[in-house]
Amino acid sequence: MPQAIPIIRTVNDLRAQVANWKAQGHSVGLVPTMGALHDGHLSLVETLTKHAGKIIVSIFVNPTQFAAHEDLDTYPRTEIEDCAKLTRVGADMAYIPAASEIYPEGFASTLHIGGPSQGLESDSRPHFFDGVAIVVHKLFQQSQADVAIFGEKDYQQLLVIKKMVRDLDIPITIVAGAIMREADGLAMSSRNAYLTPENRIIAGRLNGILKQMATSDLPPLQAEAEAVVALEAAGFTAIDYATIRDAETLALPDATTQARRALIVARIGDIRLLDNMAAK
Ligand code: AMP
Repeated sequence: MPQAIPIIRTVNDLRAQVANWKAQGHSVGLVPTMGALHDGHLSLVETLTKHAGKIIVSIFVNPTQFAAHEDLDTYPRTEIEDCAKLTRVGADMAYIPAASEIYPEGFASTLHIGGPSQGLESDSRPHFFDGVAIVVHKLFQQSQADVAIFGEKDYQQLLVIKKMVRDLDIPITIVAGAIMREADGLAMSSRNAYLTPENRIIAGRLNGILKQMATSDLPPLQAEAEAVVALEAAGFTAIDYATIRDAETLALPDATTQARRALIVARIGDIRLLDNMAAK
């Protein structure tokens, strides 16, 4: 049995351990998560070991990225199981701060990143990227990591973090992690645990519809309209977006676009399912 992963809960202890590692010549990698870890999260740990000597996985369910009506209180919290998984994949530290370590009494700051944060997720969740930006910026500052990894599963989030690092000159390298999927193509997500067996079957149809849109020979608007029809027929109750965008900026593609990304967010009841992939 490998030794259980050390759990650190304060910024002071985090900084002391990181300083120690750096003094020994190790580079330090950070995997920010909200816990309820699945194989997608664990694949980020594995990928990051190619880029850093010591790996910190942070687990923090960040209140500022949830709106009042969202699932902050019911979001799955599974610290013991999470730490057992992290031990198995050989991560070096779990950083699990109390809310007061991230948002001390009287906390009064905000951080808005422009550019790729416009539209898409922001249309449904206007609070979301400001909450993500502030917590990720704080985790970068607290950990002083050299490199951090974010999943392509949350593609817009990945672009917002890259933009934050560029715009604010943060000395950290951002690595993108590939999307891990279930056998039927459903992107793994902590929120998949909310799906009933019937809804899980509907959810499994999302990836095929996305693939069709991403590889379609039709003009983008037509491919998108076809995807919406297919999603409705598959049992999704609302479609937040089904769209093909510039893969770098998320602007609508034009003649100058180098690479495209197909993105869909569809709902079953109040469960939102996200997926995306490179498009033709
Ligand atoms: P979360 O805990 O949902 O905030 O996610 C933490 C990190 O894991 C983010 O960078 C996500 O993009 C990434 N992630 C979530 N699901 C997957 C997946 N299925 N495959 C790869 N990375 C993922």
